[in-house]
Amino acid sequence: MLKYQSTPVQEFHHATLEKAGIRLMVKREDLNHPFVSGNKWWKLKYNLEEASRLNKKTLLTFGGAYSNHIYAVAAAATECNFKSIGIIRGEEVLPLNPTLRFATERGMKLHYVSREDYRKKNETDYIQQLHEAFRDFYAIPEGGTNIFALQGCAEFGQALLNIDFDYLCLATGTGGTMAGIIEGIAGKREIIGVSVLKGDFLTQEISNLLETYAAYKKNSMPVYGKWNVLTSYHHGGYAKVPDVLKNFIREMHQQHNLPLDPVYTGKLMWAVLEEVKKGFFKRGSTILALHTGGLQGAVSYPNLYE
Ligand SMILES: *Cc1c(COP(=O)(O)O)cnc(C)c1O
Repeated sequence: MLKYQSTPVQEFHHATLEKAGIRLMVKREDLNHPFVSGNKWWKLKYNLEEASRLNKKTLLTFGGAYSNHIYAVAAAATECNFKSIGIIRGEEVLPLNPTLRFATERGMKLHYVSREDYRKKNETDYIQQLHEAFRDFYAIPEGGTNIFALQGCAEFGQALLNIDFDYLCLATGTGGTMAGIIEGIAGKREIIGVSVLKGDFLTQEISNLLETYAAYKKNSMPVYGKWNVLTSYHHGGYAKVPDVLKNFIREMHQQHNLPLDPVYTGKLMWAVLEEVKKGFFKRGSTILALHTGGLQGAVSYPNLYE
């Protein structure tokens, strides 16, 4: 079992919020574990249980060179006594960046594949080939999103209901975290996802994940309530960080003591404040923004906080 540290809810003050008559609270889930941080903890929880149940000794997963998921799996594997293999998109670049250096220090074996091969990561034939090369392992998809991830995030979502708020806002990438949380919240709060990718496929993707999960759980009548994905805050696309966003992250850190990562939570907080300005949230309401972690990646952006 992974260790878990309970996390605080912090009130965030800002002139924009005062003007709109809205309270903004930040759930600092990034503090739940030093290395398996934020949503990745919840996405891995039941995957690790499943791997143990199947008596697997090795975890194999996929990611880019700066992946929070790769970092988290490497740390979780060590803590829970698994070996680990990371299938990394692209060519090896030396010296290793801080993410991959950490992963190898934790004993993860890195295997680099071309972008073309990487695209086959969810195909049965390709996984079979990997089994021929690496023998027996428990495969976790890119970003960790599968039914076990949804199960963990649903548990987290349900626990959030102990907090007093009207809207839950979170950053969304594969949609796995958001789908699990929608399931756990079960219509008791409104949920707003902020897409960090360009495009508007996430609503469909999240619906698909919810369907798959309901079939697995055999829930006859799942309740999902009101949720939607905002698609205009990607700042140019996945991991694109224009200067305005860097400046915003610096300001959040210096003036509000809130460390944000450039790929996910920076875009989330930006979107929340913009939507407050636009009048999306009802006056007198409380927003809970989810800090899903990802701060390990911030060190690869020089001078982000200064
Ligand atoms: C992985 C990650 C996300 C996205 O989670 P999905 O389940 O893929 O939508 C959000 N925030 C942080 C910090 C992450 O590392």
